[in-house]
Amino acid sequence: MIKRTIQQMVEMMDGAFCTSLDQHIQIQGVSIDSRTVQLQNLFIPIKGDHFNGHQFVQKAIDLGAAATLWMEDEPSPPTEIPVIYVKDTLVAIQSLAREYRKQLKTKVIGITGSNGKTSTKDILASVLETQFKTQKTYGNLNNHLGVPLTILQLSSQTEMAVIEMGMSDLGEIELLSSIALPDVAIITNIGEAHLDQLKSRERIAQAKLEILSGLRHNGIFIYDGDEPLLQEAVRLQNLGDHAVTVGLQSSNSYYPSFISIEREGVSFALPAQRPVFHLPMLGKHQVLNALSAIAVCHYYGISNEQIQNGFLKAKITGGRNEIIKTPKYTVLNDSYKSNPSSLRVSLETLSTLHDYKKKIVVLGDMNGLGDDEVSLHEKAGAQLDPNKIDYVFTVGMLAEHIAKIAKKRFIEGRVSSYQSTQQEELIAQLREVAEANSIILIKGSRENKLDQLVDDLKDSR
Ligand code: ATP
Ligand code: MG
Repeated sequence: MIKRTIQQMVEMMDGAFCTSLDQHIQIQGVSIDSRTVQLQNLFIPIKGDHFNGHQFVQKAIDLGAAATLWMEDEPSPPTEIPVIYVKDTLVAIQSLAREYRKQLKTKVIGITGSNGKTSTKDILASVLETQFKTQKTYGNLNNHLGVPLTILQLSSQTEMAVIEMGMSDLGEIELLSSIALPDVAIITNIGEAHLDQLKSRERIAQAKLEILSGLRHNGIFIYDGDEPLLQEAVRLQNLGDHAVTVGLQSSNSYYPSFISIEREGVSFALPAQRPVFHLPMLGKHQVLNALSAIAVCHYYGISNEQIQNGFLKAKITGGRNEIIKTPKYTVLNDSYKSNPSSLRVSLETLSTLHDYKKKIVVLGDMNGLGDDEVSLHEKAGAQLDPNKIDYVFTVGMLAEHIAKIAKKRFIEGRVSSYQSTQQEELIAQLREVAEANSIILIKGSRENKLDQLVDDLKDSR
């Protein structure tokens, strides 16, 4: 973060005031975690349901915080460092980030969508950083705190910022977009995640489209053109040339002329253009994510050759279709999250991987699906094809509905259900059925501890 005096910071937050005489002191960077505070930081205590950051201010002071925010109704503010009083520290960090963003020349690329935000962010940043000073959202810090923190880390030299924006309800993306003010807005796709809150895919689309509310004048909007829900809504916005579509269909501004799935990556090309792009990651869906990245790169004048160089350096954040090889079997680690649309693409990816002797799938609960959760799990069970998959293991109560339907088509003994507490039994079973050159797809979420299962399988080489 660029240095700002305490007084300048007070001016950037609505309703904030500081009575200290030392308001000329320079601040560099903010921190909400007292364990990682650095010298000259502004400490921002956040209050949650189970914690109160104000209790940790002494630790922040010990580590060198130069000033702290403080909620007006909290007792006993510290006396050692200047205190900036605000009504709500969360609202304050958001308005600080919003004002800071306005002061920067950085181009911001905002990415939302049901699936593929982090992947698109990683692919895009890997190209941008070969040409520009680029920063991106760290890991998956994509919410009402993560976005402001990412913005506040940008420096005066940052030319490009790739910012992931997540949500679980209406209004959240609007807030994030008002902070990030993107020059380029991307909606990767509309899936079924967060159906429990939003009830319908139409409302999910509406929630994602809120990203347009902060899009800068003359900015561009890149979205999934194969999604009818977006097409109709965008037509009403009259964005003209500023709307760019990506997808598999040839009606899109960007679509692949072919896709070839290889053992350790995907290749594809744009119609009548060279070179053939190669991405060191698995799945057709990564081509769609890469197409959005290409659209951004072309907008900023990056050539196809430069894009290809960046793609080769792309590394996906762990747990997302990651290939892990052990001497005996291969694990396709997609344990980060599961919902019907991302499960579909994982199964599709698995079906395109040939030359494995056995294919085994381990599927966890899909959470957050609302009233239709049982039928959506049953539908997933119906998608499992005994001609393409040898064994099915489910983990969790909801995933039992996947097993129930799959059992109708698979040979007896090939489908079994486990609970999250039965990891050891599951591992033993997996080791028994996985022979040399098997591939095990692990698709689920941390709620079912499937990431731990992956670690155990790695260790059991
Ligand atoms: P989160 O909302 O949890 O932050 P995300 O949108 O950042 O998720 P990723 O982490 O990039 O999504 O990918 C999660 C999973 O979604 C991947 O492992 C993959 O199975 C699936 N996925 C990724 N990209 C796409 C896509 N374009 N279309 C459909 N599914 C996708
Ligand atoms: Mg993400």
